[in-house]
Amino acid sequence: MDGCIFCAIGSGAIPAKVLFQDDHVVAFHDIHPVAPVHVLVIPKRHVASLAGTQPGDEDLLGRLLAAARRVAVETGVAESGYRTVINTGEGAGQSVFHLHVHVLGGRTFPWPP
Ligand code: AMP
Repeated sequence: MDGCIFCAIGSGAIPAKVLFQDDHVVAFHDIHPVAPVHVLVIPKRHVASLAGTQPGDEDLLGRLLAAARRVAVETGVAESGYRTVINTGEGAGQSVFHLHVHVLGGRTFPWPP
């Protein structure tokens, strides 16, 4: 989508520290990390948020979570534990309106957040 920064990262138009990608998803390091490991996983196709997904998007949603798991393995936090976060809507802290999964690790995380 025009003007969407994560679409631009997904297409390679804007550089990012990409960990891996395939035809459907890209995993790249967050520009303002809040943990020693902070990677974002996005679909290459524009979807504004989790709330914007439709019946039929189950395969894509599964790919995002599988990619989040792979991020944890490749960044070395799979054993120590990691947090996956999807902020949906402004009230939940979403600031970029292109669906993304935060993968956070390398420190402890309080619960509730
Ligand atoms: P959220 O607040 O859940 O929408 O998360 C958006 C995240 O995108 C924030 O953690 C930002 O630091 C991150 N971010 C914004 N622009 C970029 C960028 N160009 N490259 C990498 N991460 C970004």
